[in-house]
Amino acid sequence: MRKVEIFDSTLRDGEQAPGFSMNLAEKLSMARMLQALNVDVIEAGFAACSQGDYACVKTIAEEIRGVSVASLCRCVESDCDIAWNAIRGAERPLLNVFIATSDLHISQKLHSTREEVLKTVARVVSYASNLCPDVEFSAEDATRSDREYLLKVFKTALDNGASVLNVADTVGYIQPEELKDLITFLKAGLEGGRPFKLSVHCHNDLGLATANTLAAIEAGADRVDVTVNGIGERAGNASLEETVMALKTRRDVYGCTTSVNTKLIVPASKKLVMLTGVKVQANKAIVGKNAFAHESGIHVHGMMADRRTYEIIDPEDIGLTESKIVMGKHSGRHALEERLAALGFTGLGKEQVDALFEKFKLLAEAKKIVSDKDIEALVKAEILDFSGEFRLDKYIINSGNVLSNTCNIRIVKSDGTAFEGFATGEGPIDAAYNAINDALGKDAKLLDYMIESVTGGTDAQGAVSVKISIDDKIVKGYGVNVNIFEASINAYLNAINNR
Ligand code: MN
Repeated sequence: MRKVEIFDSTLRDGEQAPGFSMNLAEKLSMARMLQALNVDVIEAGFAACSQGDYACVKTIAEEIRGVSVASLCRCVESDCDIAWNAIRGAERPLLNVFIATSDLHISQKLHSTREEVLKTVARVVSYASNLCPDVEFSAEDATRSDREYLLKVFKTALDNGASVLNVADTVGYIQPEELKDLITFLKAGLEGGRPFKLSVHCHNDLGLATANTLAAIEAGADRVDVTVNGIGERAGNASLEETVMALKTRRDVYGCTTSVNTKLIVPASKKLVMLTGVKVQANKAIVGKNAFAHESGIHVHGMMADRRTYEIIDPEDIGLTESKIVMGKHSGRHALEERLAALGFTGLGKEQVDALFEKFKLLAEAKKIVSDKDIEALVKAEILDFSGEFRLDKYIINSGNVLSNTCNIRIVKSDGTAFEGFATGEGPIDAAYNAINDALGKDAKLLDYMIESVTGGTDAQGAVSVKISIDDKIVKGYGVNVNIFEASINAYLNAINNR
């Protein structure tokens, strides 16, 4: 059966969308998940974009094995040099060189001409091929380009050493039948020369990213660009889970497979939400909270008779499994480890598991039953607290509507130094945050604060996410505790630790 290759751009196109930025440790953690998912290519970033991006691409290229690692670069030699330096440590490095090919982009954005662009493509793709054995050439806004000219550009890229040619529907404009036709046209025009792979990069501006991606596959595309949860610029990219599960569920139609381990689709989706703090819409296909929920009487009745009446995918096939094992204070370390693995948290170090087990025991004391969601929240707090320079020792908060809100706090640094602070505030959390600033002599400012309960019930844990600005940087923090003041304090300290 024909295999379609999965090029994952969660860490590049996805990460550059507003609200989805990740730091190095977060990106590496997501890259490990993508490796476990078994995608064919991880686009790790845009190395020439910033020093931070460069460091992320380089680290992922050096750490991740068994999968090709790509960096995006503009069609200029200096970008190729930087990207190559970042990815050269990868097992299979891939340079993804792009330039726009539509008249609109060429004249208005590049202030250039078709002839100039063609020359640039020849020169830079040839340059990139001398650096890296695998070069992808991406035509930005390909779907609004003159198709004869696009074919000419692709031929030029191919002649100069590109091995993958990418048709980018940069603004989500094309319709499925049109893309099918374009892919057929390009394949026919390019065949007979050097061997190549044809790929597509579809955006969701008209809600057609997955449909277009599947249409391209039907027309013979060898590789497709996707992202976990469909994140990406504006309305996002074609989603990995929708594309992979459509191919799997309707193999009778497409006759294609992918190498993706579908049982990790839900864990990968959850991990991305955990790392970015951005939730998936409830009715999102495959990974939304409601994608496998049934409430109406007729549906539930059908489900009880035979779940195939209202479900076309076996939830277990995408890793959506509810634990029947009750975790509580009598559960041992081994039980926790097994639960962690089942939830997709593989690759945690011994120290991290030790720390998690301690937190799990404390939580099990406060709460009779520890759910999967509780465990996920603990892992998130643990994974995100990388440096742990400062930690909470003790605090007192006074709050009410007849007195001013105050907080006394004692914070301990990793070298043992203690810092004490006191402050008042508009409310108890404001007072606590002012007290932390007072103790540490910082001028951190709270930009965003979000609290939600991890599970239902009055003994539920509160999960607090904060965004603060400190030392001219914006950093995220996360804290979880049955006491929401403590969760709030930990989130703020976590953000300071992540600066
Ligand atoms: Mn894009």
